[in-house]
Amino acid sequence: MSDHDFVTITTPHLTIEGRSRAGHETWFRVRELNAAFDIGRCPDQLIATPHIFVTHAHLDHAVGIPFYAGQRQLHRMTGGHVYVPADAAEGMREILAIYERITGASFAEVEVIGLAAGDVVRLGKTHEVRVHRATHRVAANGYEVIELRHRLRDEFAGCDEREITELRKSGVSVTEEWQRSMLFYTGDTDRGILEQNDALYKSEVLMIECSFIIDGHEERAAKYRHIHFDDIAAFAGRFENETIVLTHFSRRYSRSEIRDEIRRRCPAVLRDRIRLALPEPYQRL
Ligand SMILES: [Zn+2]
Ligand SMILES: [Zn+2]
Repeated sequence: MSDHDFVTITTPHLTIEGRSRAGHETWFRVRELNAAFDIGRCPDQLIATPHIFVTHAHLDHAVGIPFYAGQRQLHRMTGGHVYVPADAAEGMREILAIYERITGASFAEVEVIGLAAGDVVRLGKTHEVRVHRATHRVAANGYEVIELRHRLRDEFAGCDEREITELRKSGVSVTEEWQRSMLFYTGDTDRGILEQNDALYKSEVLMIECSFIIDGHEERAAKYRHIHFDDIAAFAGRFENETIVLTHFSRRYSRSEIRDEIRRRCPAVLRDRIRLALPEPYQRL
């Protein structure tokens, strides 16, 4: 397969690799989390990834699930987790069961887990993923990654290690929980998520779809429940994110057309924070 659309996006805390074009294929792997968002057609890079958060059942995001299960079976990997919207979970299990039946395989080591808005999945000791509803043509989840740490309470900041140990032994709680939203991944969605969801504006990195960008495609965006760049521009003042990655561009547009058109339309307040999920030299405005 050609790596024509393969992208690597680095932010201060994350290395994100993947590819994303509307109707063709979307997946992203976040190295630091050992997790992926959407699976596309299941590229080799995702087979060893134990946690795959699929936003919705459309083929360009989800068709790789049976291949993932089969490859992990082949390589005897245990503990694969595929998260899908709750409404799609039973159907996805049926698809895997049919493949097991017609190929004589067993996918027992891959678990399909249905998630709905408000659900939380723990990722190791230091992260959790919160589920949000995304507004789209089919049941769709957005996923938010939270970093969880314990840090010393302010009042003990001046203490040395021995004092801290003594305090701890005497039963004093010296640390407090600290949380940071490090990534919000919308998957396919429309303007509704910008109207209804507060969390996406506050995450350090926002990955948001932006299927349509040019004049005359606004109605198409609304009809197929996707975002047009003008929707993002309309909410420009609300984004507190350090980095905003635009994904899922329609294949109607060339890479240079995408960059030039967004550069022309982009409000100044967003310009330096926007990254396009396109290979270099098309990533920055
Ligand atoms: Zn899509
Ligand atoms: Zn879709």
